[in-house]
Amino acid sequence: MDLKDKKYFYFTQNSLNTFKNCPFKFKKKYIDNIKWEDESNYNLEEHAAFGTDFHKIAERYFMGIPVFEDSFKENIGLYNAFCNLREYFPINKKFKYYPEYTIRYSDGNVRIEANIDLIIEKDDKLEIWDWKTNAKTDSKKYADSLQTEIYMYVLKKCSKSIFGKEYSDIKMVYFSPERKEEIASITYSDEKYKKDEKSITNLIKKVYNFKWEKFDRKSYLKHCKFCEFRLFCESMNIEDTHYEFGDLDWDSIEEFY
Ligand code: SF4
Repeated sequence: MDLKDKKYFYFTQNSLNTFKNCPFKFKKKYIDNIKWEDESNYNLEEHAAFGTDFHKIAERYFMGIPVFEDSFKENIGLYNAFCNLREYFPINKKFKYYPEYTIRYSDGNVRIEANIDLIIEKDDKLEIWDWKTNAKTDSKKYADSLQTEIYMYVLKKCSKSIFGKEYSDIKMVYFSPERKEEIASITYSDEKYKKDEKSITNLIKKVYNFKWEKFDRKSYLKHCKFCEFRLFCESMNIEDTHYEFGDLDWDSIEEFY
């Protein structure tokens, strides 16, 4: 079945990033539905566990339910990250907090989903907050990322149906809980909104029209080292490249949570 006809399939920043990094991997994961564990990436799993735990704690904190600090106090890194979060975001009763909020938008062909760490509704403005554990410092990279594009676009597109009114003042902030600092802060504009609409629509069209049988692995080799589908691809007999762990670009890897 054509992906276009799978009306239940919504594109996320993860799936679209996967397509950009390697269309073959996108096909395996999202069309053929193949799940493949890669047991060699222990370091990634460790970082992923930290990120997952932090997201869960932050969600409880903003929902106003107990976080049971004693249960993770011995995990110094995690505990410090939580203390940083609590200090940076004292709960303000005038604001509304929406942690781990999923927004879905569809016009039939363009179907997108954003899984947002936190939305804060403050009178006449909306803020998107994204927790970046193990973050890099390159703020431009975050600002220009597909994640920023999709989250801000979909929030603006759907703000009226969610909050009952349209918001023009929207910003997105990437926050490092370990360092207690904003890594990047992006303000949205009508111009950027129009640009995003065009680029997201074009990217989704590109996925629909991609000729899978003509996939050429050579153009995507830099993403192979930490890819769980290496075994499939090695049978294609194309010379692999070798990357050291230090070459790993955390932000080109799909989000852990
Ligand atoms: S191993 Fe490389 S070519 Fe194969 S799916 Fe992964 S990234 Fe793509």
